[in-house]
Amino acid sequence: MNEELINKTKEKYNNFFGIEINEINLTVVNSREEIDKLKGFETKSRLVGWIGKHDNLFVLSEDKLESESNHKKEEYEKILKHEIAHLYIHKLTKCRVPVWLHEGLAMYLAGQVNPNITKEESMKALEFFNDNSKEVYLYAGAYVYFLIKEHGKDKIIDLLKKIPSEISKEDFQDIYSDAYNS
Ligand SMILES: [Zn+2]
Repeated sequence: MNEELINKTKEKYNNFFGIEINEINLTVVNSREEIDKLKGFETKSRLVGWIGKHDNLFVLSEDKLESESNHKKEEYEKILKHEIAHLYIHKLTKCRVPVWLHEGLAMYLAGQVNPNITKEESMKALEFFNDNSKEVYLYAGAYVYFLIKEHGKDKIIDLLKKIPSEISKEDFQDIYSDAYNS
């Protein structure tokens, strides 16, 4: 089931991002304890997936999702799609991307956008540059949804490509304004 989903998602994202990831190495993790060991710290119960080096992807096992995290079993597909999106964003940029953009785009692609958030509310996402507290997930997906709906997906891809490897919040704001005002 994982393999089929990964292949389908890869096809969609190869097209969306205009880059190809040939092989995604998925490691299925079986407990919170194992997650903590791999991450090297005590993780929050919402953390169930992350990307590693060399297109490696770590995701908590579907069967353990409810006992080892605060996610529902039905969310598994979206979680996997979300993490694969992070892999693509990382591959495309090779650099630090504002948290709201990394998370928002991954949520948008995985179908995790909260439909009850208005455009005005979603703009709160912009405050989350380094900070990936729980709140960012409320707004970031919706904000990216509105950006893509109003300006198309190519603009967001162009923006990602323009981010240099180290960037301050202020400098990012300049690149961002440039991309969306021209
Ligand atoms: Zn994420």
